[in-house]
Amino acid sequence: MPLDEYRRKRDFTKSPEPAGKASRKTPAGRTPRFFCVQKHLASHLHYDVRLEHNGVLLSWAVPKGPSLDPATKRLAMHVEDHPVEYGDFEGVIPDGYGAGIVMLWDRGTWTPEVDDVDAALEKGDLKFTLDGYKLKGSWVLVRTKGAPWSKGGADRSWLLIKHRDQWSSGELDILDFAPLSVTSEDDLAGILAKDDPAVWHSGRPARSGDTGRLFERIIAQAVQMRADRTGNAETSHRPARSGRTSTARKAAAKKRR
Ligand code: MN
Repeated sequence: MPLDEYRRKRDFTKSPEPAGKASRKTPAGRTPRFFCVQKHLASHLHYDVRLEHNGVLLSWAVPKGPSLDPATKRLAMHVEDHPVEYGDFEGVIPDGYGAGIVMLWDRGTWTPEVDDVDAALEKGDLKFTLDGYKLKGSWVLVRTKGAPWSKGGADRSWLLIKHRDQWSSGELDILDFAPLSVTSEDDLAGILAKDDPAVWHSGRPARSGDTGRLFERIIAQAVQMRADRTGNAETSHRPARSGRTSTARKAAAKKRR
């Protein structure tokens, strides 16, 4: 089953991520379908590029994120298919696989520039057009070597490359230029502040190095945002929030189902 690996890696009583029920049929041929890019601060910051195909989201983790510069090839690790519902997900994964913060960084439609997507994947050369808010125009995902797509796992390294067109740019760093959520307009700290900034008081997803420092800064910002908001709530005499975090509530709600 296409979502087995996705489900095996996650405990949905603990994670707010969707288990994925619906399997929407994906239109065939050169028709537009859903795509999204999620900025994911976990053990390392990366960008997950997801293209809807055959009722799931084909997924690649791009450590350095997409580049608009055709001369810059970005490593894209092919990862397990995600449910189509994942395309709406933004929030905090408190524990387990992918623990960290997920931001919906871009979304829109993608259109294959080939008639047969499966054949292109098998070949390791998928050309496509993106129509998102941030990413547009022609791109290619090309597998770096060897193993056929169908065997999976053997070689998951691909490159994500922008084709030269009106949407390419050698100068603009789209990651710096447009860093916020495409839906909430939050940054990573803002997404964490909506949940529980103290979720990782012990066992943060990354403790050392650049990622550890980034987590430290984002957690401090989120705590400050919550403190500011609580201050405002008190002055306007709004009722205090319940002690349970939204992640804990969602997990509890899932458990009851
Ligand atoms: Mn990820």
